[in-house]
This record gives sequence, structure tokens and C-alpha cells, in this order.
Amino acid sequence: MVTQKRDEINMQGKKKFGKKSANQMNDISKTVFAPVYPAIAKNLVEELKIKEGICIDLGSGPGSLAIAVAKITDLNVISFDNSREMQRKAEENIKNAGLSGKISILHGDVHKIPLDNDYADLIISRGSMFFWEDINKAFREIYRVLKPGGKTYIGGGFGSEEIFENVCREMDRLNPEWSDLRKKNLSEENKKRFETALENIGVTYEINTKENGFWIIISKETPGALP
Ligand code: SAM
Repeated sequence: MVTQKRDEINMQGKKKFGKKSANQMNDISKTVFAPVYPAIAKNLVEELKIKEGICIDLGSGPGSLAIAVAKITDLNVISFDNSREMQRKAEENIKNAGLSGKISILHGDVHKIPLDNDYADLIISRGSMFFWEDINKAFREIYRVLKPGGKTYIGGGFGSEEIFENVCREMDRLNPEWSDLRKKNLSEENKKRFETALENIGVTYEINTKENGFWIIISKETPGALP
């Protein structure tokens, strides 16, 4: 339990996710959370209809969403994270899925993405933005890297009501503290915090609140960075 507590501190974004958190996230992504990623991938592809070009999965962790998206599209996916430990897991999972030709690994921080302006057709992210220190800066970077005509699907969620209920039931059993963290991350108050940031930086966006989470869909019309 003490170990879990220390990991929770890591998961609050106080420092980069280390080996223990990476192992935990990797295990959970293959068990309790396994149905979540294909369901989210299906939802986002159906909603945004972007199936080719370049996709970046920000805070990709063990790479599960990147893998799920690569499986059902022709997108070339970049699994991006600032934790080397997470990236080691992602690399292994991508290789085991036979998707090394479609998914590449890129190390970096979302506050300073090492990619050109107007680079990606689709930028996705699940469960990572709650750890970003400066959301204004991060979303300005995301906007800069997005191609005109491109979209984002960034947030937190579980893919469907049914999956959500199963995950909650199982996670409550495994880690009673998880429920409070989830409620805080996906609260109305936290959603407002992101809305305020997006209003402040002045981008066109909508928030999809289906399936017990929320997803930020930014559309980019003109090239380059925000003024
Ligand atoms: N997206 C994965 C998933 O849903 O399974 C992992 C989610 S995990 C809770 C959050 C991830 O975001 C971690 O892999 C962490 O290293 C990454 N992360 C947190 N802050 C980041 C930052 N500033 N830049 C890049 N990645 C970050």
C-alpha cells in the first residue's frame, strides 16, 4: 500500500513516471483497462473520420491507444512521452503487436514538442493532460503542431458506459484511492479549468462528454502557431 501511495504521488505529476508507475500502468493497460483503448480508438475514428496521415499520441504511456489506433487506420502513429520507463514498455508492446513499421517512439515533453509546425493530422491523448503542469502552454504547443484541417481528441474516458462500470468495479477492488483521483480528474470543475485555458489561448474547440469522460476536440484552420 505504501508503494501505491508513492506511485500516486508520481501520478499527480510531481515528477516523471518512474519504473514502478510504468510497470503498474503497463499491467493495468493489459488487464482491467484492456477494452478501453480499442473502444476509444473506434469512437475517435468514427467521430473525426481521420484515417490517414500522421497521428501523435501524447503521454502515450505503454502505447495502448497508439496501438489500437494503428490497428484500425492507415495512420502513422507517434507514441510520445516524457518518461523513458514508459517508452521502454511502449517499444516492447508495439514490437509484440507487430506494429513497429507503423508506430514510432518519440521522447519529449508536451510543453515543448520537438516537431515542426503543422505536422500532425490527428493528435490524441488519454489520461495524460491531468498531469501537465501548464495547460495553456501545452495546448498552444499542440495547436502549433496540428496541421490546418487537423483535429485533436484529448482527454480522459473509458470508451463506453459498460466498460466504465467494469473498470470502476475492478479498480475499486485493486486500489481504493483510484476512484477519488478519477472523480477529481473528470469533475465538472476540472473540465472548466481546461475550457478556461482553451478560451484564453483562443482556439476553436468543442468538448465531447460522452461515455463518462471528456474529450477536447480542437480544429485548426490557419497554419502556424498562435500569436
Ligand atoms: N495514455 C496512456 C494510457 O491511457 O494508458 C498513459 C496514461 S498515464 C496515466 C499518463 C502518461 O502521461 C504517462 O505515461 C506520463 O509519462 C505522460 N506524461 C505526463 N506528463 C507529460 C508531459 N509533460 N509530457 C509528455 N508526457 C507526459
